[in-house]
Amino acid sequence: MPKNKKTDTSVNNREFAVITYCFIGLFLCMMGYFTYFQFVKSEDFINNSYNMRQETFSTTILRGKIISADGETLAQTQAAADGKETRIYPYGSLFSHIVGYSTEKYGRSGIESWANFNLLRSHVFFLEKAMDRLTDKKSIGDDVVTTLDVKLQRIAYEALGSYQGAVAVLEPATGKILAMVSKPDFDPNTISNDWETVVADENKASVLLNRVSQGLYPPGSTFKIITALEFMRENPVSYTNYEYECQGSIQKGEGTLGCFGGRAHGAVDLTRSFAESCNTSFANIGLSFDEDHFADTCKGLLFGAALPVEKMETVKSSFALHSGALDSEVMETAIGQGKTLMTPLHMLMLTAAIANDGTLMKPYVVDYTKTHEGQKVKEYEPVAYGQLFEKKETEALQGFMKEVVENGTGSALKGAGYEAYGKTGSAEYGANKGDSHAWFVGYAHKAGKEDIAVVVLMEGAGSGGTYAAPAAKRIFDFYYGG
Ligand SMILES: [Zn+2]
Repeated sequence: MPKNKKTDTSVNNREFAVITYCFIGLFLCMMGYFTYFQFVKSEDFINNSYNMRQETFSTTILRGKIISADGETLAQTQAAADGKETRIYPYGSLFSHIVGYSTEKYGRSGIESWANFNLLRSHVFFLEKAMDRLTDKKSIGDDVVTTLDVKLQRIAYEALGSYQGAVAVLEPATGKILAMVSKPDFDPNTISNDWETVVADENKASVLLNRVSQGLYPPGSTFKIITALEFMRENPVSYTNYEYECQGSIQKGEGTLGCFGGRAHGAVDLTRSFAESCNTSFANIGLSFDEDHFADTCKGLLFGAALPVEKMETVKSSFALHSGALDSEVMETAIGQGKTLMTPLHMLMLTAAIANDGTLMKPYVVDYTKTHEGQKVKEYEPVAYGQLFEKKETEALQGFMKEVVENGTGSALKGAGYEAYGKTGSAEYGANKGDSHAWFVGYAHKAGKEDIAVVVLMEGAGSGGTYAAPAAKRIFDFYYGG
């Protein structure tokens, strides 16, 4: 029956067409993924420091140098006559956490890890590469030029002194990291030999931890920047009329809380409360808050979120206040105690955004890569993360932070040859009342120079105004030339 036969054929044709399209579709998917992998994923794949494939690069490429912004070599590989290679760090422990280490046995850290892929690639002129192949010589890998400044790093290192803690300096307008110090530190030249001792960590010092990005601390009074912001957001017009009479302590519900050293600040407005770091006034402010709104503000400021810093290992800051919290908890949280924990890097990034009229630039440390002959290979441009604060908010916060220096707890920075802005903190920790970490976070401005922002955290040092602010001053003084 011809009619049926025709139908059979069209069914066959249709099946055939469906199968064909399926194969074509599958093929396109595979090609698509292959292309994607080749151009997008392969870099991530190769850059995984536990990946075997990048190790094969090191059989044909001599690992490139890591160089500071001012042209100094921070890490380089020397090959002996017998072919044995040694990674050398001319500045020893000065850059231990940020430059990191590169070892056969224990992997890599810091820039050595983040830029591993760049260091193990070579963009030398193709004739040189061809000659290298012919003579069975390794090609020289690309150099990674960083945003780090050796002199500033040294000042930051000295400013932290013998304390454990963290210091970092960045440029608010670009996000360039100029210096980053974490103590205790280690010597990357001998890390393989020292590994057992460093990791054994008998003093619980967590030597390998980069305290700038991985150390979680109670923010203490530096958190008043955020409490002040929340007060302005909840009272956008009337916050300027705020008045409070500080008698040295405040009692509400289960909680009692006092000002530093039991001092009574008397009549204060918001600016004076901030400049004098008046705990009782800020506790009073906190008690007026809508806790859920406060939590939203903190969420918008990257609490509980991964910090937008390319490749760097960071830990999340935490803010745990919720509606229905006890008065004592609310008061503690408003002054940066309680359950709130922050990394110094996070605090620095918020301050940099305030200095930059609200826009947070993503911090970065690799400026560009080049061949050993100086040919630029890849340049990294500043990238904006987004607007964290409104302009009018940053204007108000800048005013408060200026007053801290002019007439408040940051007077160590007063009268310098630049305009300084900041907030001190003495963050209590542990069971002993009175044990505190010294904090300072701030930035400075001088015509003709880029602004810089600085964070200082000295574990167990005591008062932020007495210890951390002078340490920050050393950095500003050096940078702005006294
Ligand atoms: Zn007070």
